[in-house]
Amino acid sequence: ERARLNRLRHTPALTLDGENVELLANIELPSDAQAAVDAGAVGVGLFRTEFLFMNRGGVLPSEEEQFEAYRSVVQTMAGLPVTIRTVDIGADKPLERMSPQELRHEHSLNPALGLRAIRWSLAEPAMFRQQIRAILRASAYGKIKLLLPMVVHLREIRQTMELIKRARQQLLDKGHSIGDVEVGAMIEVPAAVMMLPAFFRHFDFVSIGTNDLIQYTLAIDRADEQVAHLYDPWHPAVLKLIADTIACAQQYGKGVSVCGEMAGDPAFTELLLGMGLRSFSMHPAQIAGIKQRVLRADTRKLQSAVEHTLQADDPQNFWAAACDRVEDTV
Ligand code: PEP
Ligand code: MG
Repeated sequence: ERARLNRLRHTPALTLDGENVELLANIELPSDAQAAVDAGAVGVGLFRTEFLFMNRGGVLPSEEEQFEAYRSVVQTMAGLPVTIRTVDIGADKPLERMSPQELRHEHSLNPALGLRAIRWSLAEPAMFRQQIRAILRASAYGKIKLLLPMVVHLREIRQTMELIKRARQQLLDKGHSIGDVEVGAMIEVPAAVMMLPAFFRHFDFVSIGTNDLIQYTLAIDRADEQVAHLYDPWHPAVLKLIADTIACAQQYGKGVSVCGEMAGDPAFTELLLGMGLRSFSMHPAQIAGIKQRVLRADTRKLQSAVEHTLQADDPQNFWAAACDRVEDTV
């Protein structure tokens, strides 16, 4: 069994019909990067950097400390791409109180709709600038992609791009070297899906955060147990938003991946492949299982079943029945 898993780790994730699928790792701390390598990940698809900021009694990591953390991940990944998400603080990931904004935030009635993610960063420009600088500096040591959480407004994109441009120029003026850093957005809100053509004027890639996309599409608090039974990744509206995002990215020639829990759930692997997805990011421990499904999949056979599933009232049962039929024809 150990030998088999070891072989699997070095096996490229190719479908039966020869489609190459990228299986990436989600990490929370630099020390997780080794597990990503050991699991055979071909890169980090989501580095949740807020974990460097949380549980420190409100003392934030300096630019230098962040730079060391990002560089250490890039070096551990040894040439493989590392997607660094700027802090996603607020709502389900609260920071110890520190700023007046954060204090107000504690009292907000709907924290998930409040000051979190890119909104929080833009409200704390000094902190945001430090993080951007640390990320850009680390890009001299390997391939870094910069990912922005929960973008909704074009104004947020313009402000962030301006901040990145200035930070880059300042660093270059000081003699730092900076690599080629692609910038992308997380797609976590239905409004972002509807804005994709405009977003693609600014972004090189997108990553679908299904955990939040489900929450914001269905108006279900992802942390509220009383409505957990209604938090449904199979809801037709959720599936349609995911399918539309993948199709739009392909149309614009942009990269697209899924980094929410659905990417690591084997129940969705074939469905996402059938929608055209070729990049999945998940907990390192889930990579082997997803790879086994990819190796057995034939994307040509999946496509039409997916189209019908997206029209169904009950996609979950429709998809299960369609998969049984596909198995029969193998
Ligand atoms: C998501 O929302 O799907 C996601 C990957 O981000 P997080 O779970 O960290 O909010
Ligand atoms: Mg999210």
